Amino acid sequence: MKRRLCCSISTAIAFFTGDRKMAWWIIVLELADDQGQGIDKWRLTAKSDEDGGGPYGLCNHEHDSIEEAQNCPEARAEAEKY
Ligand SMILES: [Zn+2]
Repeated sequence: MKRRLCCSISTAIAFFTGDRKMAWWIIVLELADDQGQGIDKWRLTAKSDEDGGGPYGLCNHEHDSIEEAQNCPEARAEAEKY
């Protein structure tokens, strides 16, 4: 089942990726069900402050905690590209 990302930034942990031209934020977002309700599953995503800038999921897992999503090796490798 395809999950979409919940847009509630209130639950997100954000950190700035540094001095790039385009500002990208690497953020842990809660995944949401079809009704937009958070399902207590987490994924590391990349989001830009410009139009069309995500959020893009950095892995395809459904992590059980924010910490786990942040420490996902696959997502962190992907985050290096931003
Ligand atoms: Zn992952």
